[in-house]
Amino acid sequence: MTKILYMVVPCYNEELVLDETSERLKAKYEQLISNDIISPKSRIVYVNDGSKDKTWEKIKEKHAENSMFSGINLTRNRGHQNALLAGLLTVRNLADCVISMDADLQDDINAIDEMLEKFENDGCDVVYGVRDNRETDTIFKRRTAGAFYKLMQGLGSQSVPNHADFRLMSRRALEGLAQFPEQNLFLRGMVPLVGYKSEIVYYKRGERFAGESKYPLKKMISFAIDGITSTSAAPMRLIFWIGLIWFILAIVGAIYIIARHFVNGSDVAGWASIMLVVVGFGGANLLALGVIGEYIGKIFLEVKQRPRYLIEDFINED
Ligand code: UDP
Ligand code: MG
Repeated sequence: MTKILYMVVPCYNEELVLDETSERLKAKYEQLISNDIISPKSRIVYVNDGSKDKTWEKIKEKHAENSMFSGINLTRNRGHQNALLAGLLTVRNLADCVISMDADLQDDINAIDEMLEKFENDGCDVVYGVRDNRETDTIFKRRTAGAFYKLMQGLGSQSVPNHADFRLMSRRALEGLAQFPEQNLFLRGMVPLVGYKSEIVYYKRGERFAGESKYPLKKMISFAIDGITSTSAAPMRLIFWIGLIWFILAIVGAIYIIARHFVNGSDVAGWASIMLVVVGFGGANLLALGVIGEYIGKIFLEVKQRPRYLIEDFINED
């Protein structure tokens, strides 16, 4: 029996790439359908993440032209991760498996065959698409991404494959993901927690087809911080250890100063060392407060239990 495959493609101001992306996806789908690998009920779902350009009009156009294309319109811009989750959770009961992919064709559409094969034949519930080259990303982006995934691995709560959000998930894996209620989304860290058998498919990451990256440096940094603080409490623990070592050093220092006082008598020297301690502790305090603040901020956002996204429209044949 052929499987129903849904693709979920978040789009923010992507009117320039949608034509080409649709052409390529359509060709891939037609090939897969004619080879009886996927069912004709398979769909490509664009999630419009509150775009300011004509992205939604384009999506409706695609849907009118060919029922293979569907669209979800969010009420406003909620960011890549929320848009992706909106798509995944909306279609999870309609599909046997869902592949998520960026709109800009940086992910290699041909990796889809291998993903489906691992799903179908190897019984994988999750298949990660992992870049085995990143020549098309800037050196800066590669270096920072590499360092980030090393850090994530080092913090070690679980392993996060270094992948963009290009992956296949089965229906039951999505059902598992749906049970994660958190607001602070870092899907790359959450999906491994869902479990089930998973495998990796390597592909070459291409250039963004048109338009520009929606991840400027500022967003990249905040995404990295979200990633770390949503998957690991290690930074807080680190503060505890630094504090503990500092405290022990302070006791040793105090003993030394008192002993010195009895041996040498009191001296007025020591302004520099006092200043050092004041400045050092000030810095450490601020750093520690920053980390704790980050977590408390997250708690604040979580307890409000606000919806992660709101859907204005869902256009889908049948
Ligand atoms: N995106 C989104 N909402 C946003 C920002 C980005 O849905 O607020 C989508 C965007 O349309 C694209 C994907 O997320 O399909 C990845 O964005 P982009 O290609 O700009 O990131 P990069 O590849 O540069 O990291
Ligand atoms: Mg991109």
